[in-house]
Formats: sequence, structure tokens, C-alpha cells
Amino acid sequence: MKEKSFIERLIRPEIRALKAYHVPEAHGLIKLDAMENPYAWPEELKTAWLEVLRKVEINRYPDPVAHALKEKLRAALKPPAGMELLLGNGSDELIQIILLALARPGAVVLAPTPTFVMYEMTATFVGMKFVGVPLKEDFALDLAALRRAVAEHRPAAIFLAYPNNPTGNLFAAEEIEALIRESEGLVVVDEAYHAFAGESFMDRLGRYDNLLVLRTLSKQGLAGLRLGVLAGAHAWVHELDKLRLPYNINSLTQASVEFALAHAEVLEAQAAQIRKDREALYRALCALPGVRAWPSRANFILFRVEGRSASEVHHGLRHRHVLVKNLDPAGGALQGCLRVTVGTDPENAAFLAALEKAL
Ligand SMILES: *Cc1c(COP(=O)(O)O)cnc(C)c1O
Repeated sequence: MKEKSFIERLIRPEIRALKAYHVPEAHGLIKLDAMENPYAWPEELKTAWLEVLRKVEINRYPDPVAHALKEKLRAALKPPAGMELLLGNGSDELIQIILLALARPGAVVLAPTPTFVMYEMTATFVGMKFVGVPLKEDFALDLAALRRAVAEHRPAAIFLAYPNNPTGNLFAAEEIEALIRESEGLVVVDEAYHAFAGESFMDRLGRYDNLLVLRTLSKQGLAGLRLGVLAGAHAWVHELDKLRLPYNINSLTQASVEFALAHAEVLEAQAAQIRKDREALYRALCALPGVRAWPSRANFILFRVEGRSASEVHHGLRHRHVLVKNLDPAGGALQGCLRVTVGTDPENAAFLAALEKAL
């Protein structure tokens, strides 16, 4: 067929071989699959927010550099003196911008695995090679294996999710620093779960010329607005900014995030509640026979079901209207594993009740 030959001739084979990032239908389900904050804003806050949005001129292009928002983010994130911020349509876009800048023929992206899938996918999008270095059995970095891989592949970039998704743990800070010091490439510390972790590399930015830090507001309660933040030295931000599409942060997002930052105590109280509920959920999971859960510094918990197929348990949960992430198809270290996002108290209770039945 003619159509097919166009595709085969024109679309790169590595793109044809990809599976699109899969987002399952969640209508009517208790949604604990995507690390969203389950809490809405109080009504009076919503009303004040809508008043702000009323004044946004959507017939005009947004502020191309989001000046006012950046100032407020700087005050909130407190990067060290001399560091600058670059904003993305989610941190996903920032990962893409970084890799677009580094994508020479043959250039390598390295990350410990399992980790956030977009590092590998984006490397493929831009024509880079991805090298995954397995974590140790307890999901700690395998520093010796990483050193060997860095020496062999000389990666242009190393991505370290801190805490890691989907394992939930923080890697040892001194091992990350060793990698930063020993690598000739860029090291990106992705702090998507910062609000739940209490640890950060932000303060170390001034110490290393090859370090960038990523943050996002998605996991903190603003996933629908799509705002990611990169912090790094001027020289990096200056180059990366050239790859940013004009007006990548829309007017409604700029105004809404500014508003949210002015009421940061609401998001912080929600994160504190989630951290507290995470511990209760972890203990409850550990108490279930046939379940092994890992401690988490993020807003989700990885767990393995033993003696049952994880895909069957996933299906059983869904049948009971609870959606979690099935990691079993990924195989390897994640065989038999599911990942649950910490929800509201009633959601967590419903999940635990459904899991007990599904097991
Ligand atoms: C969810 C996630 C992101 C993506 O966040 P967005 O800002 O919503 O694009 C980035 N990194 C990690 C490790 C994540 O888990």
C-alpha cells in the first residue's frame, strides 16, 4: 500500500518502534495511578483565583519570559545567588529542551533503571542513545556499575530522579555528588517529588558547573497547569532558552501559578497531609499478607504482590473502581509490582479494602 510505504520511508524506525506514552481511561475510578494531589482548593480560594483569571487577556500572547511568575518562583525555590530559572510546559518539556541541546550524533543519555520513562523516550525522540544502569536490589545506586558505564559511554547527560520514580527512594547524596564530580557530561537531578522528600540539590548548584536541578508543580497539586522549572547557571539557561518555543507558558498558567504561590501555605498543608497519610498507607500495605512494600520519600508507594499475578491484582482493583499503575509489564526489577499514589484518607481506605479482596 502506498500510504504504508510513505510511513516506512519517512518515519524513523526508532519512532515507529515506540509505544506512545499510555494514559489509561480513568472516568468514574478512584485515580491513584499518576501521582496527582487529590485535594481541591477551598471554595473561597477558587473564587479569588477566578477573579484573577477574569483579568487575563487571552486575546494577547502571554508574557514570553513570564517575568512576574519567575520572580515569584525565585522567591519560593531560593536557588543560590547567580542561578537562573527556565520554565517549561511541565518538566517533560524541560527534559526535551535539555536533550535537544545535547543531541549530537552518537550522544548518550544515561540513567539508573528503573526510573522515569520519559528520559529514555525523549532520548529516542531526539535521536540519542539511552543507556540504563540497573539499580541494586534495594534500589540504591550501583555506583561501581555507574562508574563503569560512564567510563564506557561518556554520557552527555545523566538523569537522576531524586526521589526516584517508580521506586520512591532517595539515592545517597554523596554517590550523586561523586557522579557529578567524575562525569564529563551534564547531571540533571530531577526533583519532581521535592514537596514530599525534604531533601534537595538546589543548594549545590553553585558548586558544580555540570549540575542542573528540575522541579515541577505537577505532583504538588497543579498538574493541570503544566509548569516545570529548571534551575542552573546562567551559561546553561542562556543556551537552553534558545530551544524553548515562544510563549511555551500560557497566560492562564502564568496567572494561576502566581496566584497559587501567593497561597503556598495551602499547597504546603496538603503536602504535609500526604506525607502523613503516606506513612499510614505504607504500614497498612506492610501488614497485608502477600504484599511487600518499599518505604517512600515521594507521594506514591511501590509494592509487590507475592504468589499472585500483579496484572490480575491490577485488574481486580480496577474492577473495584480503583486505578493504580501496573509496573509488571516493565519486567525486571519491577516484576510483580504495582504503584499506588497516596490519595485522600477515604481513597486510601477504599484502595486497601479493594486490594484485600483482589489479592
Ligand atoms: C512526573 C514526573 C515528571 C514530569 O512532570 P511534569 O512537570 O508534569 O512534566 C518529571 N520527572 C519525574 C521523575 C516525574 O515522576
